Amino acid sequence: MQKIEHIGIAVRNITESNKLFAKLLNTEHYKMEEVESEGVVTSFFQIGDVKIELLQATKESSAIHSFIEKKGEGMHHIAFAVEDVNIELARLKAAGFDAIHHEAKDGADGKVIAFLHPKSTHSVLTEICSDKDVSK
Ligand code: ZN
Repeated sequence: MQKIEHIGIAVRNITESNKLFAKLLNTEHYKMEEVESEGVVTSFFQIGDVKIELLQATKESSAIHSFIEKKGEGMHHIAFAVEDVNIELARLKAAGFDAIHHEAKDGADGKVIAFLHPKSTHSVLTEICSDKDVSK
């Protein structure tokens, strides 16, 4: 793991949340992006070296939808930058962590990503990510 890349926050209404977080962080979001495969629309704020990713569900089958139904809005996941998602995933699985994704898949903001199951990480939903062109 290289650093914390971003922190994901589940929200009900990303337009309203963009305003709230712009006020909180004193900076505007720099992009919005839909990740259709995950059923989410995301928006990103840059805070120093770390990003804040807001996620709103676009359909009921989205993991963000069920998260909010169960727990309400709030901290959803922490994402670590790694050099190569597939190599790191293999290391983590060998170390006994449960993976949700078994190989790198496309995520938002030019990244490939994979999630670990929170069951195996003290309920901290953990994402690993790297830039799309490094890991294919
Ligand atoms: Zn994320």
